[in-house]
Amino acid sequence: MHLDLFELHRPTSVEQTMRLAGEWAGRFDYLAGGTDLLPNYKMHINLKPHLISLDAVPELGGHSLERIGAMERLENLERDPAFMAAYPSVADALGEVATPLVRASGTVGGNLLVETRCFFFNQSYFWRASLGFCLKADGDRCHVVPQKERCYATFSGDLAPALLVLDAEVEVAGPNGRRTIPLADLYDRKGDGIRRLTIAPGELLIAVHLPPASRRWRGRYRKLRVRPSFDFPELGVAVAGAWDDRRVTSLSVAVGGVEPYPRRFDELTGPLVGETLSEERVRALSEAITRAVRPVHNTFLLPDYRRRMVGVYVRRVISEAKGGVAT
Ligand SMILES: Cc1cc2nc3c(=O)[nH]c(=O)nc-3n(C[C@H](O)[C@H](O)[C@H](O)COP(=O)(O)OP(=O)(O)OC[C@H]3O[C@@H](n4cnc5c(N)ncnc54)[C@H](O)[C@@H]3O)c2cc1C
Ligand code: SF4
Repeated sequence: MHLDLFELHRPTSVEQTMRLAGEWAGRFDYLAGGTDLLPNYKMHINLKPHLISLDAVPELGGHSLERIGAMERLENLERDPAFMAAYPSVADALGEVATPLVRASGTVGGNLLVETRCFFFNQSYFWRASLGFCLKADGDRCHVVPQKERCYATFSGDLAPALLVLDAEVEVAGPNGRRTIPLADLYDRKGDGIRRLTIAPGELLIAVHLPPASRRWRGRYRKLRVRPSFDFPELGVAVAGAWDDRRVTSLSVAVGGVEPYPRRFDELTGPLVGETLSEERVRALSEAITRAVRPVHNTFLLPDYRRRMVGVYVRRVISEAKGGVAT
């Protein structure tokens, strides 16, 4: 495996970045920490001749409790005790991304936009060629669900579920200016699975914004993976909300690592507002979420096992966020 030649561009402002994006439209990728993109390039997956590095654009860096720059390294968030205390679900997720070495380079923007994964996709060119490639790169069929013309590769970022439950928003820049959208709307839930985002190719993620109200919420993120020292999630479940012994004021649950996009279950958690968070209600919620998810066989663990573990993890994160013991 080797990296092919590419031309590297290094803009120093968002405006310059947008100009380069227009100039090389369709022929470039943004390079953040490179911990996801460059391994894929080494496997000759969806190569582009130009890379626009974002590391010299000051506006994309740094963080506060309200705003995280897209280029902020995961390690920098982990080292900020005030940030970690304010957002327990994100603190949990940060500690579970890859390894400390990867987190020293990996960025928040790169983590939210990480490429979806599949056993038939994250392979060398030679390996993929032997099967005739697949829809997601270089081929025309899916080896996981052959009768369908869409891709089921799994969204495997850890931060997205943890930020989704906080009602996070993302700021995006494109040729027509900037806009802010809910993080949930960044992921294309209705597309073909190959185009996995709602933002147009070439649009730039500038920052994540966190609403002040979410700082008072309880939260937790737990992840199922094969090797706890560095694997991608086979399942990741986040919870955040506000409740006391009498009633729930707000409650969100999000699941990643089982479908092509991270997903919140507001239609199932919404009816619990105003109620007590009893064990029976938590069990019913966990069963309903288990029924709603549809993993396919494209990661290491079997889909039926991952689906059954969704319910276990939903109960576990809520119990831990309530201050109870994990079950
Ligand atoms: C061994 C190993 C283990 C890993 N384990 C995990 C894991 O457990 N959990 C997990 O979540 N991830 C894991 N990863 C994936 C990856 O390291 C992280 O997700 C990391 O946060 C990605 O960030 P990055 O800055 O390196 O992204 P990059 O690789 O630079 O970029 C990722 C994608 O986002 C695009 N992009 C980046 N920034 C922007 C922006 N501002 N605007 C528009 N597009 C942008 C890039 O073009 C690219 O398509 C692992 C990686 C490795 C190598
Ligand atoms: S789900 Fe199908 S199309 Fe998508 S990466 Fe896997 S084999 Fe390819």
